[in-house]
Amino acid sequence: MKAIYPGSFDPVTFGHLDIISRAAKQVDHLVVAVLHNPDKKGLFTLEEKVELLKEVTKNIENVEIDSFSGLLSDYATQKNCSTMIRGLRATTDLEYEMQMALTNRKLNKEIDTLFMVSSSEYSYLSSSTVRQIAMFGGKVSCFVPKVVEDALKDKFEEAYDNGRRA
Ligand code: ADP
Repeated sequence: MKAIYPGSFDPVTFGHLDIISRAAKQVDHLVVAVLHNPDKKGLFTLEEKVELLKEVTKNIENVEIDSFSGLLSDYATQKNCSTMIRGLRATTDLEYEMQMALTNRKLNKEIDTLFMVSSSEYSYLSSSTVRQIAMFGGKVSCFVPKVVEDALKDKFEEAYDNGRRA
């Protein structure tokens, strides 16, 4: 079975990696697909997010990193894949995730979304929290792999250099 794990991954955290490595054990091939949303300016560019994901998943053989823009349902058709993986951290994720899953199935009736419950140690972890901590120079090594930590440092050093922060 092949599955797609779509998301923003801005940036990839240990929470995402936990889902990726566990999902990869359950399927033959896992496509981690970074959503390109031109209306939403993230911290990392699409290319940077893809590169970081490639680096941190390089030892998992059946994982492919890709990106897409537009509708996930169209991307699923293009990839010839109808199984989506999403992570659930807490019940607060549930409402949004159910809405997305039902919408995607309405758009493409072949699509089914499988939810994987986060490991308890990552159930509080989100990319936005990591970005905020890094923005204020906090330690993020327990939330993200080293290569992501370094990339975050580079991002915020750049911001300092450009005088964008006080
Ligand atoms: P999106 O903007 O599409 O929600 P994210 O990158 O924030 O993209 O998340 C992608 C997927 O990974 C979502 O299903 C989200 O619930 C899940 N996820 C994010 N952080 C964690 C975590 N700490 N543990 C488990 N799943 C997570």
